[in-house]
Amino acid sequence: MLSLLDLPALKALWKERRWGQPSWQAFEKAYFEKLACSYEELEAVPSQIVEALRKDVAFFPLEVSQEFLAADGTLKILFETQDGLKFETVLMRYSAEGKADRFTVCVSSQIGCPARCAFCSTGTMKWSRNLRAEEIVAQVVYFNRRLKTQGASGARVNNIVFMGMGEPLLNYVEVKQALNLLLDQRKFNLGPRQISVSTVGIVPGIEQLLADQLPTNLAVSLHAPNDELRSRLIPINGSYPLATLFASLDRWTEQTGKAVFYQYVMLRGINDQPEHIQQLADWLKARPARLNLIPYNPGPALQDLDPTEREQIFDFAQRLRAHGLHVLIRHTFGQDIAAACGQLLVR
Ligand code: SAH
Repeated sequence: MLSLLDLPALKALWKERRWGQPSWQAFEKAYFEKLACSYEELEAVPSQIVEALRKDVAFFPLEVSQEFLAADGTLKILFETQDGLKFETVLMRYSAEGKADRFTVCVSSQIGCPARCAFCSTGTMKWSRNLRAEEIVAQVVYFNRRLKTQGASGARVNNIVFMGMGEPLLNYVEVKQALNLLLDQRKFNLGPRQISVSTVGIVPGIEQLLADQLPTNLAVSLHAPNDELRSRLIPINGSYPLATLFASLDRWTEQTGKAVFYQYVMLRGINDQPEHIQQLADWLKARPARLNLIPYNPGPALQDLDPTEREQIFDFAQRLRAHGLHVLIRHTFGQDIAAACGQLLVR
């Protein structure tokens, strides 16, 4: 069933029925700015249009199946699609003294993930399908409404990371459409620096981002500094080895003028050894790069992997900084509700 978030189809319907531009603008304002939660709240749209829509168009493409609240305030929602599939999305709240709160949504782009990285729970679930653009932006609309109804005065989602379930660059067409909506000032009012697309390193997808000049941040899940190890952890490295990946990232940096963010999950005894420090420095020191070290979050379906000790992560970071690299240790949110990096999983 068509939903109000399938904007190309909805626009076509509007045109066909000659409902006109002012009523379209009233709809956009009520839905995206005022965050209407039901047809009753679309009073600004002429009532005969609302009645016509109500018959054939779903107000929202997703249902909430379950929710989980972590001790640190992280909220994970299990959504259900119209065709009965389930996936998860996470809202993180980051508060720092003297600054406005940051609300980050970790959006999913696929149900399951074909990349099947060795350390990631999502890769162990059944692969179902790509999410549609409307289902991607619906995740953001949902949390905006939630912030509004919880009375967080004027609070909005102000940061989006494509770091939920799935590999966004293997669902390029829908992700691109979603990005364009998120960047549309009349809908989400987000700037390019508030959105990060994270990829395991799908080179044709990076080239597409370049060709389309989508100005968001780019994050790359690096996780290993040599092809032998990376291919063991991330099977698609066989198709896009490090030299090919970095050549593409260099073009991206040249065109955008921006640094690339890199994720590196710290796996004890596997990718946290002294030789890895040197190899990482060799790849990154001459490039504009921000490296995020991520403590490994264990998952029930994952075996034979352990997190690097806290102390050793600090030491690893220090040694990388001594090579002149920009290194941060990523804070872990929502581990108690399996909402942290790599823990999203639906059975
Ligand atoms: N497929 C995209 C988007 C997912 S982002 C990508 O790989 O970039 C999710 C991030 O969490 C990725 O960097 C992923 O490698 C990382 N991750 C996966 N499993 C993890 C785990 N068990 N612990 C910590 N980080 C993990």
